[in-house]
Parts: sequence; structure tokens; C-alpha cells
Amino acid sequence: MSAVARVGVIGGGAAGMAAAILLADGGVTVEVVEAKPDLSALGSGITLSGNALRVLRGLGVWEEVRAHGYSFDKVAFRAPDPHGTVLAEVPDARLGGPDLPATTGMYRPDLARILAERARGAGARIRFGVAATGLEQAAAGVELATSDGVTEHYDLVIGADGLHSATRQMLGIDVAPVPTGMGIWRAFTGRPASITHTDLYYGGPCFIAGYCPTGEDSIYAYLVEPAQDRSGVSDDEALAIMRGLAEAYHGPWDDIRPLLSTGSRINYTWFTQHLIPGAWNRGRVVLIGDAAHSCPPTMAQGAAMALEDAAVLAELLLAADTVDDGLWNAFHERRSARVRAVVDASVQLGQWLLDGERDADVPGLIGRLHPKIATPA
Ligand SMILES: Cc1cc2nc3c(=O)[nH]c(=O)nc-3n(C[C@H](O)[C@H](O)[C@H](O)COP(=O)(O)OP(=O)(O)OC[C@H]3O[C@@H](n4cnc5c(N)ncnc54)[C@H](O)[C@@H]3O)c2cc1C
Repeated sequence: MSAVARVGVIGGGAAGMAAAILLADGGVTVEVVEAKPDLSALGSGITLSGNALRVLRGLGVWEEVRAHGYSFDKVAFRAPDPHGTVLAEVPDARLGGPDLPATTGMYRPDLARILAERARGAGARIRFGVAATGLEQAAAGVELATSDGVTEHYDLVIGADGLHSATRQMLGIDVAPVPTGMGIWRAFTGRPASITHTDLYYGGPCFIAGYCPTGEDSIYAYLVEPAQDRSGVSDDEALAIMRGLAEAYHGPWDDIRPLLSTGSRINYTWFTQHLIPGAWNRGRVVLIGDAAHSCPPTMAQGAAMALEDAAVLAELLLAADTVDDGLWNAFHERRSARVRAVVDASVQLGQWLLDGERDADVPGLIGRLHPKIATPA
């Protein structure tokens, strides 16, 4: 028995596809609308922490994720000195349990494709190039209007349309992502043999310089700077800026710099934070993933939280007989405090860097958060 027979999902990112897969597997009719025309333009790399991998295993895609990604169990810290001196190499916590790696790096379009194929296989219908444009709530359902002129009726609509969620605005929720003061340059390149796990360099011209292997032949590399307006920057200028900032970093960065080119999908974006206080639903429309919350990727937890939201929501919907306050209370009880802890810790890590705080208790902060998120959502 399920509380819903027909669900509309707005947004085909990790949150939307995960919800679609689990609900469709549970016998629900699911339709996803995704504003982008295809999956190819979905960024560069992503670091998936163990708790994200645990949800992906629950979706039945872990073996494929493992085959396409690059898994590792440690992180090293290097100095921004002429040798990229290794200061410490530490085992990373296996947040998804002992039988999953601590981290898997992944090319984002590969992850998107794996999730979309699985959702289709489960029976979900996906309409690419179609945006949600209007929502009207009725006592027992929602009318969802889309950019192709179609209006469909659903028992429930899931707004998984990301950071600048149109669904959030249509619901009149007056919460928006707030910049945290940092901006990140990211590039996607081939993998030098010297890179087999993430290294983090703190200091130098950037707050953080780092990289993550995303496959046998690929990595993404990133440089975090004070947030600034980089909106008019051309591809050539972006390449020059990234190469210039990277000059200060050595060790494997000496292998990355020559690989950077205008074909490296160089991208600049600001870090943000937000979390909808109280309920994430209005009537029969609920927000999950970045639509409901965001955090700087200082702990690589954004996609993990998005996937967990979807898993918890689907579990509750499939187990309930009706969509009522009890269901929403249970959802918020399982999600709000956990996400709040992740957002606060992720923001704090960035703020200590912005403040130049040298005595920050980073191990203490991480040590307090990890046991919480190692517990299944
Ligand atoms: C610089 C940066 C680095 C990050 N690195 C990591 C990391 O390493 N690890 C990690 O776990 N997290 C990371 N994150 C966070 C992570 O990317 C997000 O938390 C995650 O992608 C959220 O998934 P989502 O499905 O909620 O949203 P999204 O992935 O944004 O998906 C939303 C989808 O909705 C679609 N959409 C938008 N509007 C509409 C509409 N009106 N109608 C239909 N469709 C619509 C969009 O096209 C999009 O495909 C990072 C974030 C940033 C900014």
C-alpha cells in the first residue's frame, strides 16, 4: 500500500532521479520533468561520500557507479610550498559502512546517465527540455503545468529543482541561497598517475586547492578563492586565471597545470548556504535536495543530503496509507536536524578559512558530525 499512486517530480538531478527510482520500484506511476534538454551539460566532477554511496547502493546502481568512478579511502594534506610537501595522510571515514569505500569520485554526467537509465528501467517517464511553470493545489492532488503547454494531475509533486528552485518560489517560500563569501574554480582533465586520492592544500593564494580522481582517466581540480564577480570572464581568461592561481601549488599540481585547456570545462561558482526552516512541504508539494537546502562543498555532503532526502521521502510515502501531517512530521523529524548539522558544519569549515582562524578545532567538528551521518538516514 502506498500513500500515492501518481507522482510528479520537478528536476532530474540526484534528488529527483533517486525519488523517481524508489517510487517507481514501489509501483507508483512517476513522471519527471527536467528543464535541460539532455544530461551532457551537467558540470564536471563530484565527490561522493560514503553516505551518498549507501543511498546509491539502495537504488541498485552502486556497481555501475563503482565501475565508472574512482574509489579511495584516504585524504592527504599538502603544504602550498615549492614541493607540495605532504603534511599528513589520513584514512577517511567510511560513512556508508565498512563494505563501501570512504569516497568515490565521479564524472557528473556519468552519474546523471546511470540514474536516468535506472529510473527509466524502473518505469519512470522522463521529459527532458520541459520546465515546471505552474502549480495549483487541490485537496487530493496537485495540477502541474509545464513549459510544453501540458497540465498534469498528480497525488503529490516533488520539487527537486535545485538551488534556484522555481518550485520553492511558486510555493511562496521566501528562503534563498546566501553566498558564504567563497568562489570555486573547477576544471575537468585527464588523470596524472600521481593522483590516486584527494589532496587538499590550505593557504597560498587560495583558501583551498584540491583535486579528486573521477575515473581511471579523469580528475577534477579546484581552487577556492574569495567570492568575486567573474561573470564576464571568457574561456581563455578563465584558463589563464586558473593556471595563474595554480602556479603556487606543486606536487601533483605540476602535472595538472599542463593538462588545463579551454576544453577542461572550467567553471566558476559561489558557495551558498540555506535551509528552509520548519516544513519543506506546502500541502502536497514537497521540496528536497538543493531546493530545500544548500551548503558549501567543504565536506562533500550536498549530493549525499539530496539522495538521503529522496530515500527517506520515498520510504515514508511507500509505507503510508495517506499523505497527512503524520507523514510530514516523520519526514521532517528524520531530515531537518541532520541536514542542519551538515549545513552548519560545512559553513563553519569555510568560515574558519575566511576568518584566517589558525586554531580552529577542525578534527573536533568533523569528529562530532561523522558519527551522526554514518548512521543511516
Ligand atoms: C561548487 C560545488 C561543488 C559541489 N561539490 C559537491 C561534491 O563534491 N559532493 C557533493 O555531495 N555535493 C557537491 N555539491 C552539491 C551538489 O552538487 C548538490 O547538492 C546536488 O547536486 C543537489 O542535487 P539536486 O538534485 O537537489 O539538485 P540539482 O543537481 O541542481 O538538480 C536540479 C535539476 O532541476 C532542473 N530544474 C531546474 N528548474 C527546473 C524547472 N523549473 N523545471 C524542471 N527542471 C528544473 C535542473 O536543470 C537540474 O537538473 C557541490 C555544489 C557546488 C556548488
